[in-house]
Amino acid sequence: MSEGDANGGNRRADIENALTAVRDRLTAACVAADRDPGEVTLLPVTKFFPASDIEILRELGCSEFGESREQDATSKVVELGSDGIRWHMIGHLQRNKAKNVAAWAYSIHSVDSARLITALDKAVRGALDDGDRAAPLDVLLQVSLDGDVHRGGAPREELAELADRVAESTALRFAGVMAVPPIESDADAAFADLAAIHENLLRVHPEALQRSAGMTGDLEEAVRHGSTCVRVGTAILGPRPITSP
Ligand SMILES: *Cc1c(COP(=O)(O)O)cnc(C)c1O
Repeated sequence: MSEGDANGGNRRADIENALTAVRDRLTAACVAADRDPGEVTLLPVTKFFPASDIEILRELGCSEFGESREQDATSKVVELGSDGIRWHMIGHLQRNKAKNVAAWAYSIHSVDSARLITALDKAVRGALDDGDRAAPLDVLLQVSLDGDVHRGGAPREELAELADRVAESTALRFAGVMAVPPIESDADAAFADLAAIHENLLRVHPEALQRSAGMTGDLEEAVRHGSTCVRVGTAILGPRPITSP
């Protein structure tokens, strides 16, 4: 962020500079990990930021965005539409909000229970039948690496069954896994753990290739351990206006 623009006078230049720096950082991480930069998607996380920031990012070539709060996301989708945009739901979702998300989400990274899978399947089938969406919903299972499910994610013991459930549903497509390293954990070890869990699931579900891992503070470690999508908020848009849940 440059100085002297506290009132947002040069928001576009700030975002452009930050986005360039993150793209460079991601490319360097891929090179260091001996990976093709084309294998890793940069997903800007726009939660808590206004639709005007998303418009700036669109002008800078971004077309996929991550949102974590259903209500906030739904209002931005209403404002900006979905033409040429892929919206990703990456935060905890309550079952009674499945219908709203089914109307706009291209994918959801944070599925962690059988009941949510059932609710999403029903909601997406309804949206498909009504012509409100054209394709199934991509579902990533969020893994709780330390088993503390209050922070989101399913315990690892439940993943095989949840994966089968998604794969058997009619309106959902099992696309992969997501995890956030536990607080104060070693990111390298956490992402190595996620990689092993994912490899296991891939034996039964070879189509579920996505590994959503890595944020502002740990994208290098995630790329080293096979991330296919880094979800980056702070490094692109700056500190969030209010504390995230
Ligand atoms: C907010 C959020 C991010 C982005 O985090 P930063 O540290 O700001 O890059 C990534 N993933 C999830 C699930 C989030 O809620």
